[in-house]
Amino acid sequence: MSRFWSATTRALQPYVPGEQPKLPNLVKLNTNENPYGPSPKVCEAITREIGDSLRLYPDPNGERLKSAIAACFGDIEPRNVFVGNGSDEVLAHVFLGLLKHEQPILFPDISYSFYPVYCGLYDIEFVTVPLDAAFAIQVDDYRRPNGGIIFPNPNAPTGRLLPLGEIARLLDANPDSVVVIDEAYIDFGGESAVTLVQRYPNLLVVQTLSKSRSLAGLRVGFAVGHPDLIDALERIKNSFNSYPLDRLALAGAAAAIEDREWFERTRQAVIRSRTTLVVELQAMGFEVLPSAANFVFARHPQHDAEKSALALRQKGIIVRHFKAARIDQFLRITVGTDEQCEKLVAALKEITAA
Ligand SMILES: *Cc1c(COP(=O)(O)O)cnc(C)c1O
Repeated sequence: MSRFWSATTRALQPYVPGEQPKLPNLVKLNTNENPYGPSPKVCEAITREIGDSLRLYPDPNGERLKSAIAACFGDIEPRNVFVGNGSDEVLAHVFLGLLKHEQPILFPDISYSFYPVYCGLYDIEFVTVPLDAAFAIQVDDYRRPNGGIIFPNPNAPTGRLLPLGEIARLLDANPDSVVVIDEAYIDFGGESAVTLVQRYPNLLVVQTLSKSRSLAGLRVGFAVGHPDLIDALERIKNSFNSYPLDRLALAGAAAAIEDREWFERTRQAVIRSRTTLVVELQAMGFEVLPSAANFVFARHPQHDAEKSALALRQKGIIVRHFKAARIDQFLRITVGTDEQCEKLVAALKEITAA
């Protein structure tokens, strides 16, 4: 605290990202990064971009990237697409540009912990809606006056998927609210709601290249929706930073979207490893929530989650534990390579045998 801080700064409760320790040989399963690298075509595209052109500003509108994203989905035009510096930045603009209204917005009690942070930053009222006893979203619980609705699908940190039909039902019940579906993990087991965008002008779908395209370090995210929603985001963006994506990010991201084959191969590998990991965890007595993401959310009836996370850390493996109501007995474990998963399973066998 300093006397130079504004009242806004003093009132903030910033988000705390998962740690990025620099230890050698660490098995890092705490922040849902992709264990496989990005497409080699990403590195080629970035390398090509390094040179004299860096003296020039990048395309403020990211037109080429928007076209690549639109082509990837089909049925979508570049004017349905907004791009930003990671989906966290896209989400920040969404909160200010589309979710700040008279009524409080709604999101699940267990959800992405950045949402309440944006509400604090932009002074947006919110009400949390409890997940059911099985940690699933019940869309009928969102039939109430609201200034907007947002949640991840699959949800984080539970990994549970809400089927597309339920999202359509939620949209039908809330025609006067913006409904934002944060699809950071959709490529690991769900069907994207982008296919509903032409039918629902109040639907905004947010995705990131950080997880399924293995580009957390490049910082690229995007939103797909009706041009009126996209215009709102452009207005906020152009009142904040005209060039959120640099030349390297724009070039690398377009190459990643265009390399369908690498994308398919690596996401299928993650899905296969997840299936094996779930079986192994269940064999040890863990209860594992059904996951459609690149992580699993698991608890052991006899072993305290925080202690297990610490014991794993002593063995050079880090996972995420949240000291939050309802979920403090769960571990959130990123699906790594098969080798990393085997190390995790061996370590947990020792811990749960003790
Ligand atoms: C990882 C994640 C994001 C942020 O992704 P970036 O594009 O890296 O900013 C957004 N929402 C959820 C639910 C996530 O898990």
